[in-house]
Amino acid sequence: MANITPISTESCKIGFIGAGKMAESIARGVINSGVLPASNVRTAHLGLRRTVFESFGTKVFDQNSQVVQDSDVVIFSVKPQVVKDVVLQLRPLLSEKQLLVSVVAGVKLKDLQEWAGHSRFIRVMPNTPAAVGVAASGMPFCLFLLSPYSARVYIRDDSFLKKVLYTVITLGDAATKEDGELISKIFGAIGKVWTAQEKLFDAITGLSASGPAYIFLAIEALADGGVAAGLPRELSLGLASQMVLGAASMAVSTGKHPGQLKDDVASPGGTTIAGIHELEKAGFRGILMNAVVAAAKRGQELS
Ligand code: NAD
Repeated sequence: MANITPISTESCKIGFIGAGKMAESIARGVINSGVLPASNVRTAHLGLRRTVFESFGTKVFDQNSQVVQDSDVVIFSVKPQVVKDVVLQLRPLLSEKQLLVSVVAGVKLKDLQEWAGHSRFIRVMPNTPAAVGVAASGMPFCLFLLSPYSARVYIRDDSFLKKVLYTVITLGDAATKEDGELISKIFGAIGKVWTAQEKLFDAITGLSASGPAYIFLAIEALADGGVAAGLPRELSLGLASQMVLGAASMAVSTGKHPGQLKDDVASPGGTTIAGIHELEKAGFRGILMNAVVAAAKRGQELS
């Protein structure tokens, strides 16, 4: 641990290996929120992505090696299939002076540390909409979107983005508490950050990484129900989406147990309890629990 020197939060330089959607999302968040100036963010790319990163002030090199040599924090944001080769190629340049971070889904810290030759490594798992937000916007602060069918979300401004995105982080053996705090600050720029043991990552994937798709399905089905009950399609879809947004906001902002919130809506002999009765007869809770467990199991099989 002799080479573990603290990295200053105010002046650190962060470099992305892999100039894709995820890297863009994090870079934009860090810069827009003022955590770091654009001049402290770098990546490397020779193709079209170069222009995208340059458009918001990021330094773009030709080679990954230049990014590593000019960064205190190196974030691996390539696809899982190539990460091993990329880390191994850069290994001669990597030392414990740098904090390494991986956002790569399904690749374990143990392997990353082995390929890098040291364990000042932090594994991070952002949720999928982090990149969708950027893909949908093409520009900061001004996001729009279509319907749940496109598997994208309506994002109106940056503060909204921060409410719906999250990151889970887990620390490698040589990563310090201060390293964890630095990464929480960087990823805090794009949403809420939780720290969790790596063994929980598959369950987290099953719940909140795959979860948006369960809710898109629910929105679609609720909208179909509205149409079956006589609503025009567009109105029904708008109401279903806004209702899910409102319910989630209430659960987060009131801090009340969801059972309590449900009881508050269901008056005796009323409409809501009639609907809930149907859901319970069909095993609604068990189905959702099974979905999370199945996705977590699949995550385990893939990693
Ligand atoms: P992406 O395809 O948009 O980005 C990958 C980038 O890596 C591309 O720009 C590609 O040109 C570049 N690349 C490929 N080989 C390279 C190499 N040898 N050196 C440097 N760059 C190289 O993918 P993405 O959606 O940004 O995902 C990146 C990582 O983030 C993945 O590992 C994924 O599992 C993880 N992740 C993504 C999301 C998401 O919302 N997209 C969520 C969680 C985790």
